Order: sequence, then C-alpha cells, then structure tokens
Amino acid sequence: MNWILWGIFSGLLLRAGELSVLGRSIRIGPGDFLIGLAGTVFGSLFLFLAIGLILRGVAVLLKRDWFANAGDRFLLALLQAALFFTIWWALRADLFTLAGSGTGKLLFGAMLLASCALFFVLRPALERIPAQIPAALLLVAGAGLAMAGTFGPVRFAPEKTADAGTVEGGAPDTVVAETGGRPNIVLILIDTLRGDRLQFDRKVTRNPSLAKLARTSVRYTKARSTNSWTAPSVAGILTSRYPSQHGVHHGTARLPERELSFVETLQQSGYRTAAVTANSVIGRDFGFAQGFDFYLDTKNAFPFGFFLDQLSRLWKMRFEKGSQPEVQAFFHRVTRYYQHAEQVTRNARAVADGLAEEAEPFFLLVHYMDPHRPYRAPLRYWRDEDAEYDGPVNGFEYMKYDESAGAFRVGGVKLGPDDVAQFVRLYDAEIRHVDDAIGSFVAGLKSAGVFEESYVMVTADHGEYFGEHGLSAHSDVYAPCIDVPLLVRPPGGAAQSTYNEYVQTRQIPATVLAWSGQGDAAAAMEAPPIPFPALGTGEPIDHVFVEAEDGPTGFRRSVERDDWKLIRGANGQELYDRGADPGEVTNLFALVESDAALQRTYQTLDSLLISFEEAMRVFGGSGESMTAEQEEALRALGYLD
Ligand SMILES: [Zn+2]
Repeated sequence: MNWILWGIFSGLLLRAGELSVLGRSIRIGPGDFLIGLAGTVFGSLFLFLAIGLILRGVAVLLKRDWFANAGDRFLLALLQAALFFTIWWALRADLFTLAGSGTGKLLFGAMLLASCALFFVLRPALERIPAQIPAALLLVAGAGLAMAGTFGPVRFAPEKTADAGTVEGGAPDTVVAETGGRPNIVLILIDTLRGDRLQFDRKVTRNPSLAKLARTSVRYTKARSTNSWTAPSVAGILTSRYPSQHGVHHGTARLPERELSFVETLQQSGYRTAAVTANSVIGRDFGFAQGFDFYLDTKNAFPFGFFLDQLSRLWKMRFEKGSQPEVQAFFHRVTRYYQHAEQVTRNARAVADGLAEEAEPFFLLVHYMDPHRPYRAPLRYWRDEDAEYDGPVNGFEYMKYDESAGAFRVGGVKLGPDDVAQFVRLYDAEIRHVDDAIGSFVAGLKSAGVFEESYVMVTADHGEYFGEHGLSAHSDVYAPCIDVPLLVRPPGGAAQSTYNEYVQTRQIPATVLAWSGQGDAAAAMEAPPIPFPALGTGEPIDHVFVEAEDGPTGFRRSVERDDWKLIRGANGQELYDRGADPGEVTNLFALVESDAALQRTYQTLDSLLISFEEAMRVFGGSGESMTAEQEEALRALGYLD
C-alpha cells in the first residue's frame, strides 16, 4: 500500500503548489481556495491511484521489488511524480496561458522535486499507517467513479397524466399558427442576460446564433422584467403576476400551489409540457414544476445528486477553467453553482427528441444559467485580452462598492476601470458560451423536425450590473437589471423586424396560451398577450411596473412610460428621462418642483405608481420557509451573502 500513500502525498504537494500559483495569478477567493485544497485530496487520490496501479503492475510483471532500496524508491518517486506532472500539465495547459509566468513553472518544478524528497524522508512514518486506510480510500474512489459513470444522457419519459384533456388538434407536424391549430412552443430563458450586451445590428457579433435566429424573428427592443432576480421573475413569467402577488421574493418563498401557472392550463389542454433548468432556485422544491409533465432540475436529474455535488465541488478547481469542455460538463452536471450550457443543451436536445415523437404538441422551457456568476466560460470563448488581464478580477466573486473609499473592491483589492472592464469581458465570454449552446439547441430542434412548426421565444429573467448605481450582480429596478432581450420566431419564421413599444415578461402566459388556441384562458391572465404585428395580434401596453425587494419587508417600485421612468422606495424618488438618458444616470427628481413640463411628466407617472402601490398593498408575501438544503442552494448563487 506504500504506493497509494506515496501518490496521495506527492499529489497533495503538487496540488498545493498549483493552487498557490493559481491563487496568485487569478486571485481566487478564500472560499474557492479552500474548496480547491479539499479537492487536492480527491484529485491526487484519483490520479495517483491510476498511476500507482500502473507502476505497481509493471513492477509485478518485471518481478522487481522497487521498494527494496533507497535508490529505487527515489527513482520511483521521481517517475510517479513526473507522470503526475505530465498528466496535470496536459489537463491544465490553459492555466499556463493564464498564469503565463516563468515563476509558476519554476515553482511547479520545485514542488515536483520536493514531493519526491519529502516522501522519501517521511516514508517510515507513512508505512506505519495501516493498509486498510488506503484500501478504504481506494474503494470509495472506485465506488464514486462507478456511480458517476452510471449517469447517461437524459431520457424524456413522461408519464401520461390521468386528467390530461383530449382537446382536438392536428398532429404537430401539420400545425401552423395561422390555421388555428396547435403549434409547439419553446421558451429559451437565459439567466442574467442584459438586453444591451447582445449585438444584432453588426456583421460580427458576440451572439451569432441569436443574431441568426433574429433574422426570422420579431425582436422586442423595450422588453422589461418584473423583478431583479430569478425566482420572482420566473414566477412572473409563469403566472403573469407581480412579486407582491405571487409572494415569491426575499429569497425565502416558494411558488404557492394556489398560483396558476400557464403551464398548468397548457397541460390540461393536452399539451406535453417539459422543462430543463439549471437553476436550483426554480427547482421542483420551490413549486415551479406546477403543470409540467417532466421537470428536469439539478435535483431530480441526478438521484445521487448529493454525492456528485460534493465530488464536483471538490473537483471544481481542476476543471473550472476547462479547455476540456466534455470533462468540464461531466463534472458540472451537478455543481456548486449550476449546470453549464453544454449539459443543459444535451439534456434539452434529448427532451426535445422525446417530445417530437409524441402525438400531442408540446411546450418546452429551457433555462440556461451561464451569464450568471461565476463568469467562467470555457477558455475558447475568451478573447486574448481577457486571458492577458493581470488583476484581481477572476469572475468568481462579485465586486462590492465601498462607500468610504468611493470605489469597487474584490476582496480587499480596490478596482480600477480595467478591472471593471474585465468583469464585462468575462461576462461577454459567457454570452458567447450560451449563444453557442443555443445554436446547438436550435440545431437539435431542426434535426428533431420540430423547429419550423414551433414558436421559439428567447428572453431573460433579469440582467446584471457592472458598477451602475454602485451595484453589481442583480437587484433593484434599474435598466441594466430590468431591460431584457426578447425574440419571438413564429412557426415558419417571420420577416426580420423590431417592435419598439413596451412589453413585459409577465405577458408571456397570455401570449403562449393565445398561441395554443386558448383565447379565454389567455384573456384570464392578468397581463395581455405580447403584440405580434405579423399576425396582427395583441395590443400595445402603455406602461410597465417593476417591483424589487428593498430590505426584509419593503419594495422599491418603478413605472416606465413614454421613455420616462419613476422609481420610488424607502430612500425617496428618482426620475429618469430614458429618451435622452437610456442608462438612467441623471436623476431629475430634484428639478420637478422648478420645471413645469417635468412636473406634468412626474404627475402622470406618480399617479400610475400610486395606483400600482395601492393595488400591491393588499397582498402579503407567502413567506413559506426554506429547508437548509434550499438555503445552501441560494447561498451558492450569491443570494444570501
Ligand atoms: Zn436569474
């Protein structure tokens, strides 16, 4: 058993060296450093077991006892460490580009030698450890790999719901919307995607797949979310209602059963309904699966989720930066954060293939997480300047505004403009990442033969701040967080066009229900369908309301109308002329008293906002509490920090 201990020991040292260089070169946070160190135990165990087994096998074949004398032992230590070093190098070549320093390579060389020397010195002590301990570790490792290996691609195998209706409708392959038949409907939801980071009007864009989709779609240039983070926003997308109404806010509530998700109505009308989501905060446990025949969230996708979660958490440092997307996707099937786009696409394509074989039309929700923190796209989506950056921003931690210093910080480090720009660059890399995945998913819809007969809708639950208003991540009601992209491609495609009036994601329920031929159900939703000029459907809306949590009990609310926006919360009011100031930089509220035109604008918005505030006052949050596990999931995504 010597060789196992030997391997573990050398591996520990090498991994510690790797982490110390990594820690310096990309400034991983303390939490990630600890996870990485813990990962050292598993990482070195797996790798060295393999190397040790091979060396042991060779020794047995050659009938040699390589532990017999000191010289042999040293050579073997060197050989084993050299093999580990070579494999590690191959796996982590991208890190050398990133670290890019001769010092790093020297340090690794030194660690290699030190691991051999130290093992040689400490060997007598290690030999006294009972052989059962490394044997037990070997068993655990083997069992772990075997369990991990049992998870194949997802199969769509929904059970027929007993009470599903038998509404008459054409077979999906003959359905088009204009004939009043029942089209398939695909909703692609991209978490944390700012509308203004997508590029549609340029030849070279960072989102070629979405730009291509837009060429046969209607693009909504003034789409707004109802809230600033996933759970309340998605609850609005499903129920048409505001956070005060459905009660999903403040990070503690689940979507109550009493709320009517449009998916329940679709299901009852005979639609097959399925979802693939990578965000645990809208998992089954949080009540979001209402009405879905099949709901693939990180939990029910993987019965040994807890084990894999721990395993992948420990291995995170090894594969996070991945030039190895397949390996990365494997270890990210269940991760501390979320599933990567590659895995979501693989699952979504498998589910779409299954749905395509069904006789009934389907609704499929696909939810990508990648633009959400951590901004760590695979390196192939990075640009040279992203990799060449040498500063404190690593994409794992959000920057925080330090009022006293008047500057943003990551950890203890004050950020300059290039550091903030690096946040945006890493975020843009995630946009390339998720765009590529969407391209692959659309290709999957085409190969399943359902693309041309489906409505395909793309939107986001909210955006992200990169320093605007002293904010990072997502919260509050400002444009970077609330302005979201929205694309709709009808069956067969539409002439490329833009729609430049307000729409809001809470209009999606009525929109989808109308497409499914259920006009009455659509009319019963609280927000009307999104206008679709090509089909002559839907009426423009005049204004949009948004509400975001403000402290443990309050809300900040906004109303937007005619390119003016009024915000009101416990800290007072803000008025923005979004026509002249789209980024909401200059608060004009102080001028309302002295400017008659401004006053008229304010009064219009104020009376709208008062009516909204009054309407929302009657609802209380549901406040259903979370389990410790759900709390952990929220914390991992940064909501409870
Ligand atoms: Zn979100």
